[in-house]
Amino acid sequence: MPSYNDSMPKMRPKPPHRGTWVVGGFLMLGLIAMAENHYSQQPASAQDKSNVTASSNDAANSKDAGTAASPVSSSQTASGRSRPKNPLNGQRAFGYLRQICDIGPRQSGSPGMQKQQELVQKHFEQLGGKVTMQRFQAKNPLGGSNVPMANVIVQWHPDRKQRVLVCAHYDTRPLPDRDPDPAQQRQGVFIGANDGASGVAVLMELAHLLPELDGDIGVDFALFDGEELVYVEGRDPYFLGSTWFAQQYVRQPPEYKYRWGVLLDMVGDTNLQLYQEQHGVTWRDTRPLVKEIWATAARLGVKEFVPRARYKILDDHVPLRNIGKIPTCDIIDYDYIYWHTTMDTPQRCSPSSLAKVGWVVYEWLKTQK
Ligand SMILES: [Zn+2]
Repeated sequence: MPSYNDSMPKMRPKPPHRGTWVVGGFLMLGLIAMAENHYSQQPASAQDKSNVTASSNDAANSKDAGTAASPVSSSQTASGRSRPKNPLNGQRAFGYLRQICDIGPRQSGSPGMQKQQELVQKHFEQLGGKVTMQRFQAKNPLGGSNVPMANVIVQWHPDRKQRVLVCAHYDTRPLPDRDPDPAQQRQGVFIGANDGASGVAVLMELAHLLPELDGDIGVDFALFDGEELVYVEGRDPYFLGSTWFAQQYVRQPPEYKYRWGVLLDMVGDTNLQLYQEQHGVTWRDTRPLVKEIWATAARLGVKEFVPRARYKILDDHVPLRNIGKIPTCDIIDYDYIYWHTTMDTPQRCSPSSLAKVGWVVYEWLKTQK
């Protein structure tokens, strides 16, 4: 694991991504939609403005709103009602995050990715999930032979025809290309504790609860490969796995239907702040979903979910919704100062963040009838 020097300059976080996405097998620049950036309150020097829009009424330094830990265990509210207890085990979830990071870098097609695939497949199967590897090939941005890719699909209660997709990417970026040290940008080791492992760890923890999920709704987990097999911004395409998944869903429609999709990306950092993503509140079909999820967080007292839109982000939810017609929202903390640096390590993440995000998703799933 790379060492970290606390005296290193901290970068203004720039939200991830996301330059490109794939439509119908052709690579198309997805930047166009992001052309009208309003960076009125963002320091221009540290921002790559290619793919994110900050809404104007959110100060860039509003991070403090999410620093106070909110209770995860049962507690009395002002009205005297007992708040439900978080059934997720944050320490165990964090253990999964560590286990994944201990593998090392996990970029698409790498030995680390293969180890991770073995780890998650075994984990989900042991807990009763039906695991399918959705394999495909992608062009290697560096040339040479194709890269073998696989989305991991885990089904819970596969007999249920109305389903919800809960997903995350599980590949890591090839290089820490936003590291403050230029040498690290070219040859540093990127572990991706938050950007890669956190979403997977939440799903691994949620897996303990899903066999007992009552009702008529089935849940599928999807771990997407090739979210960021990106060496050169603007040249190499993002979202290969989610695009492939959405295309297959349309070309060979299954017997079931996804009512909703919920994407988790960078949900483990210690200083967690989850604003609503702007596509999610703008698209008419996803707006009710965003409202429901943030209302669930409010009901549980999870204050890290901030009920305001902030960034407009290209992420796996865009192909899922635009190609697959699966209304999908993105739960993402875009204000992560270690993003795409060698410092995105487990020590930047916390058990309680993982547990809180998983809890909100779980309680929301329970309301789906
Ligand atoms: Zn990333």
